[in-house]
Amino acid sequence: MKYLDEFSNPELARKLLDRIHEATTRPWAIMEVCGGQTHSIIRHGIDQLLPEQIEMIHGPGCPVCVTPLEIIDKALEIAARPGVIFCSFGDMLRVPGSSADLFRIKSAGGDVRVVYSPLDALKLARENPDRQVVFFGIGFETTAPANAMTVYQARRLGIENFSLLVSHVLVPPAIAAIMEAPTCRVQAFLAAGHVCSVMGTGEYPPLAEKYAVPIVVTGFEPLDILEGVRRTVMQLESGRHQVENAYPRAVLADGNPAAKAMLSNVFEVTDRTWRGIGMIPASGWRLSDAYREFDAEARFDVASIRTAESAVCRSGEVLQGLIKPNECAAFGRECTPRNPLGATMVSSEGACAAYYLYRRLDLVAAPRG
Ligand code: SF4
Repeated sequence: MKYLDEFSNPELARKLLDRIHEATTRPWAIMEVCGGQTHSIIRHGIDQLLPEQIEMIHGPGCPVCVTPLEIIDKALEIAARPGVIFCSFGDMLRVPGSSADLFRIKSAGGDVRVVYSPLDALKLARENPDRQVVFFGIGFETTAPANAMTVYQARRLGIENFSLLVSHVLVPPAIAAIMEAPTCRVQAFLAAGHVCSVMGTGEYPPLAEKYAVPIVVTGFEPLDILEGVRRTVMQLESGRHQVENAYPRAVLADGNPAAKAMLSNVFEVTDRTWRGIGMIPASGWRLSDAYREFDAEARFDVASIRTAESAVCRSGEVLQGLIKPNECAAFGRECTPRNPLGATMVSSEGACAAYYLYRRLDLVAAPRG
């Protein structure tokens, strides 16, 4: 398949690996920001093919994983209300809240529906004028433009029974927070290519300069990852810290100007709590004053919610790159994709799910018989 197979070519992968091995003289810790990159690395065993001195640290770029517990609990409360059709992408339905998940709300009679686009939710709102239709709008800069466009369309079409439960998060403030943490070991970043395809690369040079870290914008196929690592290692070994675009087939320096214009029209920057990490200043978007009437939190008055995080789950440490998933005692035992204790085991982009999917036979000792 064009643009996929050609970026998995084993001969080219071998050549890139040879160049990485030749260039590496010292230990380096590189964080891949995005959960999609984590899955590619673990699925293809890329971390096991790299020189031993290179450690890949898995970053917080899994949108499902970092959606704060408080927002999940608000989603559960809204979805349980009579007269509400609660719409979400499928991967949010099994994310555990304090005491339930959306599947449980659905099985108890809540009208929870899986949709493939926020525009599907808007269509439902048009078809059901006597119901309140809510779309669960989470994720990074990647998913935000479609949500912004849907709210814009709701306003344009005069659809008043639609609202957005919004919890968008932004990558650059997260990189700053990771670098500011006293426990930080990260020396370079593979930035998330799809985020940059929307936002461009302009936000990253100040971060590379301030924290003296190379930042290489990277795609998701094996050769993308290897090229990102190769460029990162070349910079680290020569003492440089620049922003490079190793994903030019998808990322332009300016990103997508039309999407950015829509985002700045509909959203405004706000402080945001990241699940497992805590509050990061100016790290999210909420609806701007002009569109606040479409804010589900305000419409359903779910401001004060009490949350209770699992005492066992160490996903916060996983998301900050402080531990690998298998260092959590519950990994593959009490916590599996069928019975997840944390969002990092639920999401298709979560690091715990990646380790379970591709490494559990190596990592989880067989029970003694
Ligand atoms: S393995 Fe499960 S319990 Fe442990 S950190 Fe990951 S999601 Fe949480």
